[in-house]
Amino acid sequence: MHNRSGSWLLLILTLVILATASAVQTQSLAEIGGLRYHQHENFFRLVLELTRVREYSSAELSQPDRLYLDIYQSRLNPSLHGKSYEFNAACVRQLRLAQRNPSTVRVTFELQSGTKEREKIYYLKNPDRLVIDIYHQSTLQAVEKPAASGKAPATTVSQPPRPASPTVSGYSLVRQLGLGVKKIALDPGHGGTDPGCLSRSGLKEKDVALDLAKRLKSILETQGGFEVFLTRESDVLLPLEKRTKLANERQADLFISIHLNASPRKTRTGVETFYLNFSPDPAVNELAARENASSSKNIRDMKLIVDKIIKNNKYEESRALAEKIHHQLLGHLKQHFGPRDNLGVKGGPFWVLIGSEMPAVLVEVSHLSNQKEEEALKTDFYRENIATGLFRGIMEYVKSLGKGS
Ligand SMILES: [Zn+2]
Repeated sequence: MHNRSGSWLLLILTLVILATASAVQTQSLAEIGGLRYHQHENFFRLVLELTRVREYSSAELSQPDRLYLDIYQSRLNPSLHGKSYEFNAACVRQLRLAQRNPSTVRVTFELQSGTKEREKIYYLKNPDRLVIDIYHQSTLQAVEKPAASGKAPATTVSQPPRPASPTVSGYSLVRQLGLGVKKIALDPGHGGTDPGCLSRSGLKEKDVALDLAKRLKSILETQGGFEVFLTRESDVLLPLEKRTKLANERQADLFISIHLNASPRKTRTGVETFYLNFSPDPAVNELAARENASSSKNIRDMKLIVDKIIKNNKYEESRALAEKIHHQLLGHLKQHFGPRDNLGVKGGPFWVLIGSEMPAVLVEVSHLSNQKEEEALKTDFYRENIATGLFRGIMEYVKSLGKGS
């Protein structure tokens, strides 16, 4: 990937992405300027007024029962710092607002214990506002899909012990509509004249990614009963934009792009997983620039990427899919091959994820730049285990939708 034109494009893209990211970070922290709430008989509604819509995630905690919402790239108006509100509502006892870190606002709801609420979070425009509805479980039964008792794929997925961390409980359109997963698009990174990154001994990212995708396809078909296709079946150059286009045309339900990492820090190991978003992290943007290097897009298309990211309505599902794939793969590799770095689940501006009409993630499964992982990557055993880890993550996500394949 380090031919001359590639290097120029990489440099330009890096600069543009860094400039965009830092502009996004400094100019446009969304400000949460006000709030309104309504206590209805069966649900509680909070409306947050903010200067622009930002990414968010929600999670539940127990003892006491709480629901919190983290709004990224945002800050509280000083008048709201540390504010709390008490209620006598059917489902919410207290509401608190806090600036969790310089760019994240946390809204915490203390819930009436034992009422098993569910929440629905969505945003509205003109003016921008984020709406959080908290329902009694009983109120929701009409919308609730049947429990996972249906036909789960005939396979055993060992569930690792649930970490103490909260469970993400988004209630996205995919979930509201009870949509399941039948068809999966696997995207082996790079190909043809674009080898991706290279290991010291000459292992090419494009070859390893293709082999891993083929192995994963076979497991998904035989053990999961899914219909699976690869965006490329051989060593050919395939433009990034074509990859999601292909997935859209063939109506895939999930899109998973498989890559191998390279780091100047040779000791770095492990898994790093991405979904489409802006990133305030220069290291992420550097990686995105590297993965974007084969794009034929020009600088003027940068506006397109920014618009697409802002309008992206698959945050929640792509993030949930990324989290499950990440933790299952990392856990599986740790269990069988020893300690590894947890490089996290992150948003990043990747061309290959833009334009997908389904939840889409990019996973960097191991490092070609690390000697231990490179040696392992030469073996069928390690590759098979990567495929298994990815499979488990996909299965956990599909199960979380409450639908079989
Ligand atoms: Zn790559």
